[in-house]
Amino acid sequence: MADVLVYVLHNGGAFNKNSLGAVSEAAARAAEIGGSAHAAVLGGEELTDELVGSLGAYGATKVFRAKGTAGLAAPVVDFLDAVIEQHGHRYAIFGGGLLGFEIGGGLAARRSAGLTSEVTEVKAEGGELVAHRPILGDSQISVSHYRGDLGIIIGRINAFEVRQSGSGAAEIVDVDVAYQDFSNAAELIIRGEQRGEAVDIEGANVLVAVGRGFGSAENLSLADALAGAFGGNTAVAATRAVVDAGWAAYASQIGQTGKTVAPKLYLAAGISGAIQHKVGMQSSENIVAINKDANAPIFEFSDLGIVGDLNKILPKLTDAIKAKKG
Ligand SMILES: Cc1cc2nc3c(=O)[nH]c(=O)nc-3n(C[C@H](O)[C@H](O)[C@H](O)COP(=O)(O)OP(=O)(O)OC[C@H]3O[C@@H](n4cnc5c(N)ncnc54)[C@H](O)[C@@H]3O)c2cc1C
Repeated sequence: MADVLVYVLHNGGAFNKNSLGAVSEAAARAAEIGGSAHAAVLGGEELTDELVGSLGAYGATKVFRAKGTAGLAAPVVDFLDAVIEQHGHRYAIFGGGLLGFEIGGGLAARRSAGLTSEVTEVKAEGGELVAHRPILGDSQISVSHYRGDLGIIIGRINAFEVRQSGSGAAEIVDVDVAYQDFSNAAELIIRGEQRGEAVDIEGANVLVAVGRGFGSAENLSLADALAGAFGGNTAVAATRAVVDAGWAAYASQIGQTGKTVAPKLYLAAGISGAIQHKVGMQSSENIVAINKDANAPIFEFSDLGIVGDLNKILPKLTDAIKAKKG
């Protein structure tokens, strides 16, 4: 059976954009290998028939729904394991992000499956799905073919475009999951960002990213002012150096051990551009870097580079944006 399963994250009664992209991708690729795209959702009363069925618009023909804790990986792994055991899906696709990595890894271990993360393209070849993943600083593409019963594909964040391809509501199948004892040992108390409720680093259109070049926590007010001038869906993000120094919360960290983002504009100030930072932001549509060192690595992957002191440039940029906005 060449069916493809997608775990769909949701929060506050809305599906995650990244997950909807994964459903769209699964629908397009499953059609090419003679299979169907199915979705899986875990949660409580918020998962109404109407909401769950709406995944049909993105190409899911069937949605498996179970009661359980959605924001932790272990219960989701039990759920997906049970669905795949019953139905025999050939592939599972995740939209990326920290939880997706954790669930994908857990599922791979549970079912002895092959896993490729940071996938930017999925292709159908000879009735099989093949995952393309950029490697070596995106200079080469590694191609994964899958052996065994299950292949797991974790996309790079926002790599899969959201497309409304389906017609009508998806069929809903309620599943009773026999959770492992350890899976419900942890309890999800609250889900949210540390740096204020309105901050959504992964969903922001514009990110003002701060690095050690700011010199102090107090000086981050320059970035806050710039973000304020942009207004709208803008947030302040940080490097690990800034988070480790205690100047910003971990929730705002971008990179290998932080979040992966792909905003329309990533404005990096006082950031050197280490590979561990780059992997979290390289998919941004436009990258603008401000650094006083003309040889800083970040200029190698920026669309626009400004060599200079951020303490002088940021206030002027803030004023210019305010003036432009009238
Ligand atoms: C296993 C591992 C995981 C990691 N994970 C992450 C991760 O998830 N995210 C992450 O970001 N890092 C991560 N790192 C750390 C990473 O290697 C770098 O150390 C870190 O990204 C550097 O942060 P930075 O650019 O803020 O600081 P620096 O590298 O110290 O760069 C500061 C920059 O500011 C510039 N500057 C200084 N003063 C000014 C000024 N007045 N005006 C303009 N420019 C100025 C300097 O020229 C310099 O280029 C990880 C490291 C390891 C080993």
